[in-house]
Amino acid sequence: MSHKYSFFGAVEKSFDKAAKFTKWDKGLLEQIRQCNAVYQIRFPIKRDDGSIEVIEAYRVQHSHHKTPCKGGIRFAAEVNQDEVMALAALMTYKCTIVDVPFGGAKGGIKIDPKKYSPIELEKITRRYTSELIRKKFIGPGTDVPAPDYGTGEREMSWILDTYTAMHPGEIDAAGCVTGKPISQGGVRGRREATGLGVFFGIREVCNMADIMAKLNLTTGVEGKKVIVQGLGNVGYHSAKFFQDAGAKIIALAEYEGAIWSNEGLDVDSVFQHRKKTGSILNYPGAENFAKSGDALEMECDILIPAALENVIDGKNAPNVKAKLIGEAANGPLTPEADEVFAKKGIIVVPDMYLNAGGVTVSYFEWLKNLSHVRYGRLEKRFTENMNTHILGQIEEVSGKKVKPAAREMIMHGPDEVDLVYSGLEETMINATREIMETWKENPDIPDMRTAAYVVAINKVATAYAELGIFP
Ligand code: NAD
Repeated sequence: MSHKYSFFGAVEKSFDKAAKFTKWDKGLLEQIRQCNAVYQIRFPIKRDDGSIEVIEAYRVQHSHHKTPCKGGIRFAAEVNQDEVMALAALMTYKCTIVDVPFGGAKGGIKIDPKKYSPIELEKITRRYTSELIRKKFIGPGTDVPAPDYGTGEREMSWILDTYTAMHPGEIDAAGCVTGKPISQGGVRGRREATGLGVFFGIREVCNMADIMAKLNLTTGVEGKKVIVQGLGNVGYHSAKFFQDAGAKIIALAEYEGAIWSNEGLDVDSVFQHRKKTGSILNYPGAENFAKSGDALEMECDILIPAALENVIDGKNAPNVKAKLIGEAANGPLTPEADEVFAKKGIIVVPDMYLNAGGVTVSYFEWLKNLSHVRYGRLEKRFTENMNTHILGQIEEVSGKKVKPAAREMIMHGPDEVDLVYSGLEETMINATREIMETWKENPDIPDMRTAAYVVAINKVATAYAELGIFP
């Protein structure tokens, strides 16, 4: 037996740890744990210099308890079957916790995208898509990919174009992939969705008076001291939403270094400073840390690792002084770090659902594609007309005028982005409450991560059990 670290093995371990707190049949638990379908692909492409290269790629569908399956496609040199299987399994649990009615999936192509020209990347993406089509591993009703590490809107457009070209007349073809540009059927609010979901999830925990009392914190986000690691898509937006809600961003960390200021940093102007100078360091009015990792160990209320996996392990965990840790990145804490925090009573809000904003809004995008209409198009004007009328009546009856700012807010009919944000807010609040309730019902559960797994297992198992037969 090989003793090599297995990511899928680690996911299975967390699953087993949580399964002990459920009452499901062993065989049913085994069915949930395993990957239902693993597709391993090899195909050639001709590189710009005329040489031929064989590309290694995967698509794993972890669970068919709900279809379509859903999960991103990763382009990275480290891609391997074990990693794609683990990420697919995590997608099943993530989707079920936030009530997104999909099974989990994940795709991966073993290439470093920086070493390929755009033409080569387009060839690889289109050929990969054709291979998925060949085995029905893509389609609005079967399996719907999305962006992940190393891929974005551009790749999603290539996937869509390849799929539609090979499915002439398929009316719902745009729903074969999400994370598309708006012009190709994408949805407004997708870009900031993960960061906004992180904010909504942590805010909900901060609004729980009993939890805050245990942590010796006041309720609410306002005035909380926050540290964010990683100023990428997720970190930047998380930090910005916290700042907008009145929290103080006292430190920001990037790979080249980290800065702090007790007065609080302005996220946008730090972002601009980094863009201009090429580094986060030497930001006017802030101090530099000696090492970037030092930022994780500074005194604060909320720590948000939003960069990479395994940044807090058994070694530095004892030095972390935050009271609440929000896992915006995937896997920023090792199991050893989890144990340290569980013992100390520090709450870790787990990645598995906290960063589910992206997939939640992807679900909204898929719904938009199937309904062939922009959110808000039908009701915006109607709502505005109705609210204007109600306001007019209130003013007439009361003989007073409503203030301009309030007038604007009351009269506003929903745009697409308003509906997407509020749908995401509802989703993250419900998920947070459900996990916390499960934890409270069973005090032997060691941490919020395990509680999240318990919620996921119960939901998938219920879906299977209510099917009556296995698919
Ligand atoms: P990104 O590439 O936009 O941002 C990552 C940032 O982290 C970069 O600015 C990078 O310079 C910085 N960084 C790298 N190493 C660092 C270090 N050692 N210390 C400090 N900063 C460092 O990526 P992203 O999309 O923001 O994703 C970040 C994490 O969130 C990943 O774990 C990803 O899997 C996870 N995630 C992303 C999404 C999404 O919608 N983008 C959804 C769910 C989960």
